[in-house]
Amino acid sequence: MEKFDIIIRPMLSERDVTKEKTCYYVPCMVKGKPEGDIYEMFKVMANKCKKSTWFCLKFTFLPPHLMNHLIASLCRGYEISKFADTMQDKKLISLFRGTVVFDLEKTRLQKLLVTTSPNLIQIQVLDFKTNAVIKRGSYSHLANLVEGEIMKIISTRYKMTNVKFEKKWECGCVKPESVTGSIDFTEENSTEYFCETCTVTHKFIDEWSNKQSQKRGSKRKKVDGSGSPKKNNTSRKTQYQLSQQFGESNFDTPYSKPTVIAAKLHFPPGALHALSRKNSLRVFTKEEFNYAKMVMIVQNILADVLFDLLKQDRGGNVKPRSECDVTYLYGEHRNLNKHIPSYSVGRRNPWGGTWQDLQNADIATGDDIERIRLTRNELQHSNGFKLEDARYKDMCNIIDDLLKRFDRRNNPAKLYTEELKDILCRTLSGEEVNGVQSEMAIEIEIEHQMNIPP
Ligand SMILES: [Zn+2]
Repeated sequence: MEKFDIIIRPMLSERDVTKEKTCYYVPCMVKGKPEGDIYEMFKVMANKCKKSTWFCLKFTFLPPHLMNHLIASLCRGYEISKFADTMQDKKLISLFRGTVVFDLEKTRLQKLLVTTSPNLIQIQVLDFKTNAVIKRGSYSHLANLVEGEIMKIISTRYKMTNVKFEKKWECGCVKPESVTGSIDFTEENSTEYFCETCTVTHKFIDEWSNKQSQKRGSKRKKVDGSGSPKKNNTSRKTQYQLSQQFGESNFDTPYSKPTVIAAKLHFPPGALHALSRKNSLRVFTKEEFNYAKMVMIVQNILADVLFDLLKQDRGGNVKPRSECDVTYLYGEHRNLNKHIPSYSVGRRNPWGGTWQDLQNADIATGDDIERIRLTRNELQHSNGFKLEDARYKDMCNIIDDLLKRFDRRNNPAKLYTEELKDILCRTLSGEEVNGVQSEMAIEIEIEHQMNIPP
């Protein structure tokens, strides 16, 4: 549960150690909060920009990192907006901790603000078109997309079965940091509402709901009277109703009765469709399974190894494991410079380098830290998420050896080598392979976006 990392590979330059410090792009580490008002950055003024209401996902508990994954997912579909920084006289990417702005269109006239507060993930559309008109259902696709991605992350990728959320909304005049997701989506067909923030009556546009939601009543009747005998297999019927409700709650209308959704429910077909995942149903090759397993080994065991070591080195003064990935941890060890690699081939800098720079006899802790980085980088640069059998076996051997050494160095509660056995023995599902591929695709995509020169 703690091992969900979105890593954006730093451009590790062997020659220039100082430069790379600025090159770690891990969303959880990105800058801080926006320095100024996000509306000011984009010059959002009443006469120049039309703001939608806020669409909110209100969580009982918002897992750390979920927002980063959402940002990563959205990066696949949309470009991150840029804004002019007058102080530095250049354009900067609007990606901050917990806040990001995307361009919804090539024209950049329509933007999506995605931000978070302690238990909310909230979105708002900023429309800069001269005669922008927001209509009923205008942004239902965005609500569905965001909700679908969240569902995917919590149910298939991380199996967070107890993460629950409700859909809420709030007046668009409320400032991002003041949004609480206070208004329910109700079934009442109102055309206006009283806003407690502005203390005036606003027109209720309902831009987040699907246009066809009015038909819902007749649709439900049809489902109930579908002709199947009432005393049918009860469990099957319950299952059916569940998925029916679930489907409606997600993809037909936000006015669904149980708006609280347990992630353990399976995806309705519409959800997968909404995610338009290319690979979701295909058969994976042996090489793809190898690759997925290796990614899991890196993200789980090897990251644990670096984390546990760093914790020892720093006397426990480390941020939570869930906020650390291999890239970050490697950088920390390198900065700390405590476990220096053997450097036996005599390169100028003991850190960095390639597999060829590591001799079999180099078994210092620093050498193994380098082996972990090289393993991770090899996966990042693999073509098509594949790992040939021979290379896979080599890597397993290298990792098994270094884990034996770390079992002695770190003395973990459960031996890393045992963890490795567990993963190696497991049969991955296609869904898991797909999940790994999507995640790696996202990382690579973010990396591309982040490396665009300003
Ligand atoms: Zn208001």
